[in-house]
Amino acid sequence: MHFSRRFLLTAGCVCGALMTAGCGGQSAGGGVKFVTIGTGSQTGVYYPVGSAMATLINERTQELGLKASVETTGGSVFNINAVLAGDMDFGIAQADREYQALNGKAEWEETGPQPNLRAVCSLYTEMVNIVAADDAGIRTVADLKGKVVSIGNPGSGQRMNAIDVLTAAGLNWETDIRAEEVRAADSAKLLQDGRIDAFFFTVGHPAGTFMEASAGRRKVRFVPITGMDKLIEAQPFYRNVKIPLHLYEAVANDEPDGVPTIGVTTMLVTSAQEDENTVYEFTKTLFEHLDTLRAQHPALSGLDAKEMVSGNSAPLHPGAERYFKEAGLL
Ligand code: GLU
Repeated sequence: MHFSRRFLLTAGCVCGALMTAGCGGQSAGGGVKFVTIGTGSQTGVYYPVGSAMATLINERTQELGLKASVETTGGSVFNINAVLAGDMDFGIAQADREYQALNGKAEWEETGPQPNLRAVCSLYTEMVNIVAADDAGIRTVADLKGKVVSIGNPGSGQRMNAIDVLTAAGLNWETDIRAEEVRAADSAKLLQDGRIDAFFFTVGHPAGTFMEASAGRRKVRFVPITGMDKLIEAQPFYRNVKIPLHLYEAVANDEPDGVPTIGVTTMLVTSAQEDENTVYEFTKTLFEHLDTLRAQHPALSGLDAKEMVSGNSAPLHPGAERYFKEAGLL
Protein backbone atom coordinates (compact mmCIF):
# COMPACT_ATOMS: atom_id res chain seq x y z
CA MET A 1 0.00 0.00 0.00
CA HIS A 2 2.75 2.44 0.84
CA PHE A 3 4.35 1.70 -2.44
CA SER A 4 1.28 2.46 -4.49
CA ARG A 5 0.35 5.59 -2.59
CA ARG A 6 3.83 7.06 -2.65
CA PHE A 7 4.08 6.14 -6.25
CA LEU A 8 0.87 7.95 -7.00
CA LEU A 9 1.95 11.05 -5.15
CA THR A 10 5.42 11.28 -6.55
CA ALA A 11 5.13 9.74 -9.96
CA GLY A 12 1.44 9.50 -10.66
CA CYS A 13 1.22 12.68 -12.61
CA VAL A 14 4.08 11.88 -14.91
CA CYS A 15 1.58 9.55 -16.43
CA GLY A 16 3.05 9.03 -19.83
CA ALA A 17 6.46 8.05 -18.59
CA LEU A 18 5.58 5.89 -15.62
CA MET A 19 2.51 4.08 -16.64
CA THR A 20 1.57 1.85 -13.78
CA ALA A 21 0.15 4.55 -11.53
CA GLY A 22 -2.96 6.35 -12.65
CA CYS A 23 -3.93 9.99 -12.63
CA GLY A 24 -7.41 9.59 -11.28
CA GLY A 25 -8.19 5.96 -11.91
CA GLN A 26 -7.67 5.64 -15.63
CA SER A 27 -4.32 7.05 -16.58
CA ALA A 28 -3.63 8.38 -20.04
CA GLY A 29 -1.12 5.63 -20.61
CA GLY A 30 -3.79 2.98 -20.09
CA GLY A 31 -2.20 2.30 -16.72
CA VAL A 32 -3.85 0.86 -13.71
CA LYS A 33 -4.44 2.61 -10.41
CA PHE A 34 -3.88 0.51 -7.32
CA VAL A 35 -6.36 0.95 -4.51
CA THR A 36 -6.17 -0.52 -1.04
CA ILE A 37 -9.04 -1.47 1.25
CA GLY A 38 -8.40 -1.48 5.00
CA THR A 39 -10.20 -4.35 6.73
CA GLY A 40 -9.58 -6.06 10.09
CA SER A 41 -8.20 -9.40 11.20
CA GLN A 42 -8.49 -12.44 8.98
CA THR A 43 -10.90 -14.07 11.42
CA GLY A 44 -13.31 -11.12 11.36
CA VAL A 45 -15.86 -10.22 8.69
CA TYR A 46 -14.28 -7.03 7.30
CA TYR A 47 -11.52 -9.09 5.75
CA PRO A 48 -13.71 -11.48 3.69
CA VAL A 49 -16.00 -8.58 2.80
CA GLY A 50 -13.07 -6.43 1.63
CA SER A 51 -11.71 -9.40 -0.28
CA ALA A 52 -15.05 -9.90 -2.04
CA MET A 53 -14.99 -6.23 -3.10
CA ALA A 54 -11.40 -6.50 -4.30
CA THR A 55 -12.27 -9.58 -6.35
CA LEU A 56 -15.11 -7.71 -8.08
CA ILE A 57 -12.69 -4.91 -9.00
CA ASN A 58 -9.86 -7.20 -10.06
CA GLU A 59 -12.10 -9.18 -12.38
CA ARG A 60 -12.64 -5.89 -14.25
CA THR A 61 -9.22 -4.28 -14.03
CA GLN A 62 -8.91 -3.64 -17.77
CA GLU A 63 -12.28 -2.00 -18.02
CA LEU A 64 -12.00 0.04 -14.79
CA GLY A 65 -8.31 0.88 -14.73
CA LEU A 66 -8.32 -0.19 -11.08
CA LYS A 67 -6.65 -2.96 -9.17
CA ALA A 68 -7.63 -3.50 -5.53
CA SER A 69 -5.89 -5.17 -2.64
CA VAL A 70 -6.98 -5.75 0.96
CA GLU A 71 -4.95 -5.07 4.05
CA THR A 72 -5.44 -6.80 7.38
CA THR A 73 -5.46 -4.06 10.01
CA GLY A 74 -6.27 -3.30 13.64
CA GLY A 75 -9.85 -2.36 12.68
CA SER A 76 -12.14 0.67 12.33
CA VAL A 77 -10.09 3.33 14.09
CA PHE A 78 -6.95 2.28 12.25
CA ASN A 79 -8.79 2.24 8.90
CA ILE A 80 -10.30 5.69 9.36
CA ASN A 81 -6.92 7.15 10.27
CA ALA A 82 -5.27 5.36 7.35
CA VAL A 83 -7.70 6.74 4.75
CA LEU A 84 -7.42 10.22 6.28
CA ALA A 85 -3.63 10.02 6.10
CA GLY A 86 -3.83 8.89 2.46
CA ASP A 87 -2.20 5.55 3.31
CA MET A 88 -5.26 3.63 2.11
CA ASP A 89 -7.98 4.45 -0.39
CA PHE A 90 -10.96 2.78 1.28
CA GLY A 91 -11.62 1.51 4.78
CA ILE A 92 -14.34 -0.56 6.39
CA ALA A 93 -15.41 0.96 9.69
CA GLN A 94 -18.19 1.03 12.24
CA ALA A 95 -20.75 3.83 11.90
CA ASP A 96 -20.12 4.94 15.48
CA ARG A 97 -16.44 5.43 14.71
CA GLU A 98 -17.26 7.30 11.51
CA TYR A 99 -19.43 9.68 13.51
CA GLN A 100 -16.84 10.09 16.25
CA ALA A 101 -13.98 10.79 13.83
CA LEU A 102 -16.02 13.36 11.98
CA ASN A 103 -16.98 15.10 15.21
CA GLY A 104 -13.72 14.79 17.15
CA LYS A 105 -15.01 12.40 19.79
CA ALA A 106 -13.68 9.23 21.45
CA GLU A 107 -10.27 8.40 19.90
CA TRP A 108 -10.36 11.74 18.02
CA GLU A 109 -10.97 13.89 21.06
CA GLU A 110 -7.38 15.12 21.11
CA THR A 111 -6.80 15.37 17.37
CA GLY A 112 -10.20 17.03 16.84
CA PRO A 113 -12.85 16.70 14.12
CA GLN A 114 -11.82 15.01 10.87
CA PRO A 115 -13.77 16.92 8.20
CA ASN A 116 -12.08 15.05 5.34
CA LEU A 117 -13.76 11.75 6.15
CA ARG A 118 -16.20 10.71 3.41
CA ALA A 119 -18.83 7.99 3.24
CA VAL A 120 -19.20 5.61 0.32
CA CYS A 121 -22.05 3.42 1.56
CA SER A 122 -23.31 1.38 4.47
CA LEU A 123 -23.02 -2.41 4.40
CA TYR A 124 -24.51 -4.59 7.16
CA THR A 125 -25.15 -4.74 10.90
CA GLU A 126 -22.36 -5.86 13.20
CA MET A 127 -22.79 -6.60 16.88
CA VAL A 128 -20.99 -5.92 20.11
CA ASN A 129 -20.19 -9.46 21.24
CA ILE A 130 -18.79 -10.68 24.52
CA VAL A 131 -17.52 -14.25 24.50
CA ALA A 132 -16.72 -15.78 27.88
CA ALA A 133 -15.40 -19.11 29.05
CA ASP A 134 -18.35 -21.08 30.39
CA ASP A 135 -16.34 -22.03 33.49
CA ALA A 136 -15.69 -18.35 34.36
CA GLY A 137 -19.23 -17.93 35.68
CA ILE A 138 -19.98 -14.87 33.57
CA ARG A 139 -23.68 -14.63 32.70
CA THR A 140 -24.13 -10.84 32.65
CA VAL A 141 -21.97 -7.82 31.91
CA ALA A 142 -21.82 -7.13 35.67
CA ASP A 143 -20.25 -10.58 36.18
CA LEU A 144 -17.15 -9.34 34.31
CA LYS A 145 -16.12 -7.60 37.53
CA GLY A 146 -12.69 -8.81 38.64
CA LYS A 147 -12.22 -10.92 35.50
CA VAL A 148 -9.46 -10.82 32.91
CA VAL A 149 -11.21 -9.32 29.90
CA SER A 150 -9.84 -8.25 26.54
CA ILE A 151 -11.58 -5.06 25.50
CA GLY A 152 -9.79 -5.03 22.12
CA ASN A 153 -6.62 -3.56 20.67
CA PRO A 154 -6.13 0.17 20.26
CA GLY A 155 -7.20 0.84 16.67
CA SER A 156 -10.13 -1.53 16.89
CA GLY A 157 -13.76 -0.53 16.86
CA GLN A 158 -14.63 -2.74 19.83
CA ARG A 159 -12.33 -1.07 22.34
CA MET A 160 -14.64 1.92 22.82
CA ASN A 161 -17.78 -0.26 22.52
CA ALA A 162 -16.42 -2.34 25.41
CA ILE A 163 -15.78 0.77 27.48
CA ASP A 164 -19.30 2.06 26.70
CA VAL A 165 -20.94 -1.24 27.68
CA LEU A 166 -18.90 -1.66 30.85
CA THR A 167 -19.58 1.93 31.87
CA ALA A 168 -23.30 1.55 31.19
CA ALA A 169 -23.30 -1.54 33.42
CA GLY A 170 -21.68 0.45 36.22
CA LEU A 171 -18.17 -0.97 35.83
CA ASN A 172 -14.99 1.08 35.62
CA TRP A 173 -12.94 -0.57 32.86
CA GLU A 174 -9.65 0.52 34.41
CA THR A 175 -10.30 -0.65 37.96
CA ASP A 176 -13.23 -3.08 38.05
CA ILE A 177 -11.94 -5.55 35.45
CA ARG A 178 -8.43 -6.68 34.59
CA ALA A 179 -8.44 -5.23 31.11
CA GLU A 180 -6.26 -6.62 28.34
CA GLU A 181 -6.09 -4.99 24.93
CA VAL A 182 -5.46 -7.83 22.52
CA ARG A 183 -6.50 -8.22 18.93
CA ALA A 184 -9.64 -10.22 18.21
CA ALA A 185 -7.51 -12.57 16.11
CA ASP A 186 -5.55 -13.59 19.22
CA SER A 187 -8.43 -13.64 21.69
CA ALA A 188 -9.86 -17.06 20.85
CA LYS A 189 -6.57 -18.79 21.59
CA LEU A 190 -5.97 -16.79 24.77
CA LEU A 191 -9.43 -17.79 25.99
CA GLN A 192 -8.82 -21.44 25.22
CA ASP A 193 -5.42 -21.25 26.94
CA GLY A 194 -7.02 -19.86 30.09
CA ARG A 195 -5.13 -16.58 29.85
CA ILE A 196 -8.30 -14.47 29.63
CA ASP A 197 -11.84 -15.08 30.91
CA ALA A 198 -13.71 -13.17 28.22
CA PHE A 199 -13.25 -10.87 25.26
CA PHE A 200 -15.16 -8.21 23.36
CA PHE A 201 -15.32 -8.24 19.56
CA THR A 202 -17.64 -6.02 17.53
CA VAL A 203 -18.20 -7.97 14.32
CA GLY A 204 -20.83 -9.35 11.93
CA HIS A 205 -21.90 -13.00 12.02
CA PRO A 206 -20.65 -15.59 11.46
CA ALA A 207 -17.08 -14.65 12.35
CA GLY A 208 -14.09 -16.99 12.24
CA THR A 209 -12.98 -15.79 15.67
CA PHE A 210 -16.11 -17.24 17.29
CA MET A 211 -15.84 -20.50 15.35
CA GLU A 212 -12.29 -20.78 16.62
CA ALA A 213 -13.22 -19.77 20.18
CA SER A 214 -16.00 -22.35 20.35
CA ALA A 215 -14.08 -25.19 18.72
CA GLY A 216 -11.72 -25.82 21.65
CA ARG A 217 -11.98 -27.89 24.82
CA ARG A 218 -12.99 -24.96 27.00
CA LYS A 219 -16.71 -24.33 26.46
CA VAL A 220 -17.62 -20.75 25.64
CA ARG A 221 -20.78 -18.66 25.60
CA PHE A 222 -21.97 -15.28 24.38
CA VAL A 223 -22.81 -12.98 27.27
CA PRO A 224 -26.07 -11.02 26.79
CA ILE A 225 -25.70 -7.25 26.75
CA THR A 226 -28.99 -5.86 28.10
CA GLY A 227 -30.18 -2.78 29.97
CA MET A 228 -28.45 -0.47 27.48
CA ASP A 229 -31.43 1.87 26.91
CA LYS A 230 -29.67 4.92 28.33
CA LEU A 231 -26.58 4.22 26.24
CA ILE A 232 -28.70 3.86 23.09
CA GLU A 233 -30.50 7.09 23.91
CA ALA A 234 -27.23 8.96 24.39
CA GLN A 235 -25.49 7.35 21.38
CA PRO A 236 -28.19 6.52 18.83
CA PHE A 237 -25.87 4.67 16.46
CA TYR A 238 -26.31 1.73 18.86
CA ARG A 239 -29.44 -0.42 18.56
CA ASN A 240 -30.80 -3.59 20.15
CA VAL A 241 -30.08 -6.74 18.11
CA LYS A 242 -29.75 -10.50 18.67
CA ILE A 243 -26.81 -12.79 18.01
CA PRO A 244 -28.07 -15.61 15.74
CA LEU A 245 -27.07 -18.77 17.57
CA HIS A 246 -27.74 -21.21 14.71
CA LEU A 247 -24.47 -20.04 13.18
CA TYR A 248 -22.47 -21.37 16.14
CA GLU A 249 -23.38 -24.90 17.10
CA ALA A 250 -20.68 -25.33 19.71
CA VAL A 251 -21.49 -22.40 22.02
CA ALA A 252 -23.07 -23.11 25.42
CA ASN A 253 -25.97 -20.63 24.96
CA ASP A 254 -29.51 -21.86 24.51
CA GLU A 255 -31.59 -18.68 24.09
CA PRO A 256 -34.07 -19.77 21.37
CA ASP A 257 -34.34 -16.32 19.77
CA GLY A 258 -30.66 -15.51 19.92
CA VAL A 259 -28.60 -13.60 22.47
CA PRO A 260 -29.62 -9.98 23.05
CA THR A 261 -26.93 -7.38 22.53
CA ILE A 262 -26.39 -4.04 20.78
CA GLY A 263 -25.22 -3.46 17.23
CA VAL A 264 -23.99 -0.77 14.84
CA THR A 265 -23.88 -0.39 11.06
CA THR A 266 -20.76 -1.27 9.10
CA MET A 267 -19.66 1.41 6.63
CA LEU A 268 -17.32 1.83 3.72
CA VAL A 269 -15.40 5.10 4.03
CA THR A 270 -12.81 7.07 2.13
CA SER A 271 -11.25 10.51 2.19
CA ALA A 272 -12.23 13.78 0.52
CA GLN A 273 -8.78 13.63 -1.11
CA GLU A 274 -9.63 10.43 -2.96
CA ASP A 275 -10.06 10.89 -6.69
CA GLU A 276 -13.69 11.20 -7.83
CA ASN A 277 -13.50 8.76 -10.73
CA THR A 278 -11.88 6.10 -8.59
CA VAL A 279 -14.67 6.27 -6.02
CA TYR A 280 -17.30 6.45 -8.78
CA GLU A 281 -16.00 3.31 -10.53
CA PHE A 282 -15.51 1.48 -7.26
CA THR A 283 -19.03 2.30 -6.03
CA LYS A 284 -20.63 1.51 -9.38
CA THR A 285 -18.89 -1.86 -9.50
CA LEU A 286 -20.11 -2.79 -6.03
CA PHE A 287 -23.69 -1.70 -6.68
CA GLU A 288 -23.91 -3.35 -10.08
CA HIS A 289 -22.83 -6.67 -8.56
CA LEU A 290 -24.75 -6.80 -5.30
CA ASP A 291 -25.92 -10.33 -6.14
CA THR A 292 -22.35 -11.52 -6.26
CA LEU A 293 -21.54 -9.75 -2.99
CA ARG A 294 -24.63 -11.17 -1.25
CA ALA A 295 -23.43 -14.67 -2.04
CA GLN A 296 -19.93 -14.09 -0.67
CA HIS A 297 -20.69 -13.92 3.05
CA PRO A 298 -23.87 -14.40 5.15
CA ALA A 299 -23.33 -10.93 6.67
CA LEU A 300 -23.81 -9.51 3.16
CA SER A 301 -26.87 -11.58 2.29
CA GLY A 302 -29.27 -8.75 3.15
CA LEU A 303 -27.54 -6.01 1.12
CA ASP A 304 -30.13 -3.60 -0.21
CA ALA A 305 -29.12 -0.77 -2.53
CA LYS A 306 -31.54 1.77 -1.07
CA GLU A 307 -30.52 1.03 2.51
CA MET A 308 -26.85 1.14 1.61
CA VAL A 309 -27.17 4.77 0.55
CA SER A 310 -28.46 5.83 3.98
CA GLY A 311 -27.02 5.78 7.47
CA ASN A 312 -23.90 7.80 6.81
CA SER A 313 -22.80 10.46 9.22
CA ALA A 314 -19.94 11.65 7.03
CA PRO A 315 -20.82 13.49 3.81
CA LEU A 316 -20.97 11.25 0.74
CA HIS A 317 -17.86 11.26 -1.41
CA PRO A 318 -18.70 13.06 -4.70
CA GLY A 319 -17.78 9.92 -6.67
CA ALA A 320 -20.29 7.82 -4.74
CA GLU A 321 -22.89 10.58 -4.94
CA ARG A 322 -22.50 10.80 -8.72
CA TYR A 323 -23.18 7.09 -9.07
CA PHE A 324 -26.14 7.12 -6.66
CA LYS A 325 -27.77 9.98 -8.56
CA GLU A 326 -27.19 8.28 -11.88
CA ALA A 327 -28.67 5.05 -10.54
CA GLY A 328 -31.70 6.85 -9.14
CA LEU A 329 -30.80 5.92 -5.59
CA LEU A 330 -30.63 9.51 -4.38
N1 GLU B 1 -15.56 -3.99 14.08
C1 GLU B 1 -14.19 -4.40 14.20
C2 GLU B 1 -13.31 -3.20 14.31
O1 GLU B 1 -13.71 -2.14 13.93
C3 GLU B 1 -13.74 -5.28 13.06
C4 GLU B 1 -14.72 -6.35 12.67
C5 GLU B 1 -14.24 -7.28 11.58
O2 GLU B 1 -13.03 -7.49 11.43
O3 GLU B 1 -15.12 -7.79 10.87
O4 GLU B 1 -12.21 -3.27 14.74
